[in-house]
Amino acid sequence: MTSDENANANTDSLGDCPHCETMLSRRHVLVEYETAAGQKHYAECPQCQDVVRPQPE
Ligand SMILES: [Zn+2]
Repeated sequence: MTSDENANANTDSLGDCPHCETMLSRRHVLVEYETAAGQKHYAECPQCQDVVRPQPE
């Protein structure tokens, strides 16, 4: 294994829904914003049909 960050095809994944663990990707994003800690997202979970903050693994 290498540490090549492009080795994983899941580059669209933002993390999982904190409620149902559905994987959220860029197409679910409603809002992107910057914080001191980096870029954050709000996404609409297709399972919960609610706006959530994806939880990175
Ligand atoms: Zn969900």
